[in-house]
Amino acid sequence: MKIIDILNKKNMSLSFEVFPPKKESGFESVKTATEEIAACGPAFMSVTYGAGGGTSKYTLDIARNISEKYGVPTLAHLTCVSSSRETVKARIEDMKAAGIKNVMALRGDLTPELEGTDPATWDYRHAVELVRELKESDSDFCIGAACYPEVHPDSPNQKEDILHLKEKVEAGADFLTTQMVFDNNLFFSFLYKLREAGVECPVLPGIMPITNAKQVERAIKLSGSFMPQRFKSLVDYFGSDPDAMKQAGIAYATDQIIDLYANGITNVHVYSMNKPDVAKAIMDNLSSILGKDFGR
Ligand code: FAD
Repeated sequence: MKIIDILNKKNMSLSFEVFPPKKESGFESVKTATEEIAACGPAFMSVTYGAGGGTSKYTLDIARNISEKYGVPTLAHLTCVSSSRETVKARIEDMKAAGIKNVMALRGDLTPELEGTDPATWDYRHAVELVRELKESDSDFCIGAACYPEVHPDSPNQKEDILHLKEKVEAGADFLTTQMVFDNNLFFSFLYKLREAGVECPVLPGIMPITNAKQVERAIKLSGSFMPQRFKSLVDYFGSDPDAMKQAGIAYATDQIIDLYANGITNVHVYSMNKPDVAKAIMDNLSSILGKDFGR
């Protein structure tokens, strides 16, 4: 099933993101965790892709397993910046062979090998080129792309970032998923600017449930996302007690999701970090809301 068809429905839904193992030895435990998350019944699941291509095989294996065993539609991520055109074309063929219908087209982060080299020599510089490649690959992929309510770190300003985002949508991206946001107002003002710029496709807010204090530092470092004082207080107060922190982090994420639904958003993407207990707790918290359309 295509993700865009799910997003065009008016009922409230959740999707979860999982990541593949780095090594063969981690495959079984990741497979089990992703199966348990699939069993919670999300609208779809996305499976990330290692920037250097190291986990590319596992991305497809995990995605295929979830959709075959649980009937949950999957979105396979693919990055391009550190790959040759030949490699990317081969990955696209692998996806077609695996029956993948939905692809998240990403640039990926610059690897140390690329730093200091001339971008003119790279096969891909931006995700828009991968979107075009996917469109040209004679397949009917539904394509997702990334966006940044707090501006991508390489971008000089939000106006330019949104112009390039619009290029990705015009090239064929069917929907956008945001970098994690901890303050819904940042998402809403970003969405307003996208609509003003003529970007009309569905935009999924990305919510990261922070369930341990260490994760906070990592999440901020990776995403550069703003942490509201309300959230910082929660980490200060409960961070030293793992069970309390987990409960508070799940409650905070649930609260964000309810606020998004109550303000017109129908699908929220949750960075579930291969944690079935967290995915299940959030689904349970929303059990009387999910699936309903509330007259929209
Ligand atoms: P782009 O769309 O290429 O944008 C990157 C920067 O280039 C932006 O500043 C943009 O404004 C600018 N830009 C874009 N087009 C042009 C142009 N034509 N000319 C000049 N400037 C331009 N990384 C992984 O390695 N694996 C994953 O699975 C993964 N999943 C992700 C999922 C989501 C939802 C998000 C938000 C990020 C994900 N990432 C993943 C991280 C992502 O690869 C990085 O954030 C990366 O730095 C940018 O990727 P992008 O696709 O947004 O790039």
